[in-house]
Amino acid sequence: MFPNLKGKRLYSILNSKCPRCHEGDFHLTKKTYDLKNFGKNHERCSECDYRFEKEPGFFYGAMYVSYGLSIAVSVAVGVAILVLYPSASYKVYLAAILGGIVGLMPVTFRLSRVIWMNLFQHFDANALQNKSDKTI
Ligand SMILES: [Zn+2]
Repeated sequence: MFPNLKGKRLYSILNSKCPRCHEGDFHLTKKTYDLKNFGKNHERCSECDYRFEKEPGFFYGAMYVSYGLSIAVSVAVGVAILVLYPSASYKVYLAAILGGIVGLMPVTFRLSRVIWMNLFQHFDANALQNKSDKTI
């Protein structure tokens, strides 16, 4: 998906690929709504051996990204209700926004981790050539 973006962070984020080589998969499963496994990820990249979790607790920082994504979902749902049903009560807004946040939770969880990793690692075109280099 999105092959013309290869080399850009957006490619890694949208495809859940390794932020360094853009080849290896980050998540164990491609099924976002596999509720048993959606939060599990590989420890290292299968292609370039990049360690995804740079230090213990590294992905706690992804909560900031997840918070931002949840706010974006809330605003989008709120605006959609405002446009489609202008006379809706606050209960409709509340239910729809909560439904949107909870319903999209697996998506925001996975996306926030990949975005967080991409904040600290950029694409390295030579990563696959230096496979023996096992630095972080
Ligand atoms: Zn990699």
